[in-house]
Amino acid sequence: MAGNIWIVAEAWRGQVSEITFELLALGREVAGQAGVPLEAVLLGSNARELAQKLGAADTVLYADNAALADPVPENAAAALAQLIKERQPAAVLVPLTNLSVDVGVVLAAQLNVPFLNYCKNLKADGGNLTATCVLYGGKMEATVTASAKPAIIGILPGARSVEQGRSDKAAAITDVAVTLAAPKVHFKKYLDPETADVDITQKDFLVAVGRGIQTKDNLELAEDLAASLGGAVCGSRPVIDQGWLGLSRQVGKSGMLVKPKLYVMLGISGAPEHVEGMKSSQCIIAVNTDAAAPIFNVAHYGVVGDALEVAPALTEKIKARKG
Ligand SMILES: Cc1cc2nc3c(=O)[nH]c(=O)nc-3n(C[C@H](O)[C@H](O)[C@H](O)COP(=O)(O)OP(=O)(O)OC[C@H]3O[C@@H](n4cnc5c(N)ncnc54)[C@H](O)[C@@H]3O)c2cc1C
Repeated sequence: MAGNIWIVAEAWRGQVSEITFELLALGREVAGQAGVPLEAVLLGSNARELAQKLGAADTVLYADNAALADPVPENAAAALAQLIKERQPAAVLVPLTNLSVDVGVVLAAQLNVPFLNYCKNLKADGGNLTATCVLYGGKMEATVTASAKPAIIGILPGARSVEQGRSDKAAAITDVAVTLAAPKVHFKKYLDPETADVDITQKDFLVAVGRGIQTKDNLELAEDLAASLGGAVCGSRPVIDQGWLGLSRQVGKSGMLVKPKLYVMLGISGAPEHVEGMKSSQCIIAVNTDAAAPIFNVAHYGVVGDALEVAPALTEKIKARKG
């Protein structure tokens, strides 16, 4: 394969983001298959010391420019486009996080090449780069072969483990210069997410409520069940969207990733976007009035019944057991 494999490193508030190490791990595999070097590209302002942490790459290209201090996709894409034209990599792996999600799109548009998006895997095979891309929130997967050079590829979080991409090796850093025009977009401020009253990612027992709980008042049934288990209540997106629970309690694609010992689901259908956030729970119990609800394909135990009746009955049984 002609050209190196690049990963775009993401840094935020003085730290290298975890996804950067995931990309380094995946990039290392792909570069090995292709028999070419792996390079990390770090864009920033006074951030050179962060490049030291990218030792899993053969080299790190560090571009320092005041316009790269804040996460403005247009500036990052313009800097990357310059470097790509100069150095001709074979592929550029871009993180799909809230901070970087727009960089790959703008970059591909600037270079007039296709953007392979939502990729969870990538391999190099006989000179071709083949990506596994997720469609429709995980309902379908497409195998796509990159047709242009460079291939711009958006990589989903979790493609590889963070640990695989960490290295104690000293990074070989090359300083590179980029010239950026006055930006049209200005970063104003970052809004921190609301502080969680309860960290649901740390709970062993979770009772999750969905639209099937029907009214805010019925949440009390879930609170009682969670209290009897010594756990907390969380929910599916419609429950959070209605304001019945805070955003920090949302489980799923646009919420939290949880792995409790026990996940009890009251009136949740089992949409892929919810399942994405809880499928690794050790024991899943679903209560749903609809015997054909998709959640019964995921749950270890299922009750076809009314959550408003099953939840209090369970609470009573648990209390009786505990004496
Ligand atoms: C980009 C994107 C991101 C998303 N992110 C998330 C996310 O992070 N988390 C998330 O949860 N969703 C997310 N969604 C929404 C997701 O697609 C579903 O719409 C949502 O998960 C459905 O929530 P639900 O199961 O509570 O509601 P529904 O799908 O409406 O299901 C309600 C269920 O309750 C059952 N029911 C009704 N009455 C009772 C009763 N009395 N007792 C027992 N069962 C009863 C019904 O049979 C039904 O199965 C996202 C969607 C998109 C497009």
